[in-house]
Amino acid sequence: MAAMRCIEEKLEQGQVVLLDGATGTELEKRGVPMNSKAWSAEAIATHPSIVQAVHEDYIQAGADIVTVNSFSTARHMLLPAGLTGQFRHLNVEAVNLAIRARDTAGIQPVAIAGSIAPTTFCADPTKCYPPLHEAYLWYLEQAELLVEAGVDLLLIEMIEDIEQGSLAVKAACSTGVPVWLGFSCRRNDTNDLMLWGREHTLVEGVETIAKIGGSAAFIMHTDVYDTSEAFSQLKSSWKGTLGVYAHSGHFVMPHWKFNDTISPQAYAKEAGEWIKSGARIIGGCCGIGPAHISEIKRQYCSSKF
Ligand SMILES: [Zn+2]
Repeated sequence: MAAMRCIEEKLEQGQVVLLDGATGTELEKRGVPMNSKAWSAEAIATHPSIVQAVHEDYIQAGADIVTVNSFSTARHMLLPAGLTGQFRHLNVEAVNLAIRARDTAGIQPVAIAGSIAPTTFCADPTKCYPPLHEAYLWYLEQAELLVEAGVDLLLIEMIEDIEQGSLAVKAACSTGVPVWLGFSCRRNDTNDLMLWGREHTLVEGVETIAKIGGSAAFIMHTDVYDTSEAFSQLKSSWKGTLGVYAHSGHFVMPHWKFNDTISPQAYAKEAGEWIKSGARIIGGCCGIGPAHISEIKRQYCSSKF
């Protein structure tokens, strides 16, 4: 928990706290095959040294927090791939690899965040969400396992649906570790920015979920160039700590298309605007790697805002 105290101190002093960049897309960039149904989950068992190396590179780049590769290791994510028999092993190992990376890098303090994603990779996500009457227990099972394995906080990533997001946040909050909320947005047919599931506005999602818990809220896995608009909506509806980790490129399941990804310098320039608007925790999502994180560290992490 020393790492969390250090993060709180930095926030109190007006410093920028640095999250890592993407894990899944960075694994793919390094040649790790992505599972067609469970994306980066299997890499924990098949390519552990590369998973650990990604975490180490983010720690060397200056990240205060690394996120374990558990985005797609929830039971409902493993189910379509026939991998639920590995549920416990994959989640515990995901945490172990991040802890090992921190030990190997020899840099302290670094907090370790467990990722829980109330989303799916199915074309129609409603067919692959945990069944509503059991969803709380499915999210709780993963939250408790990650905490037991040693994470310092839980990051609810890609909140796209209010019902599923609320249950995941409630489960995470019941563990007692800090819970951070990651909201994802994209545009609908009429060009309005919506929660990723396109059923609800971001403000509806934030206002509902803020009543459940969470100590920081983020715009994440949202296109870099939609992020400023989404961030100003988040700011209007969330009174706690604010952060951003945007993506660049696009997904054609299970592959991330990197051909149009933003440069580290251009991403850092955008990050500067988010910081100016009040974001205090900055990182990167899909397509954003260690060089981007290192550039943000260089430009913003020795100043006070
Ligand atoms: Zn992403």
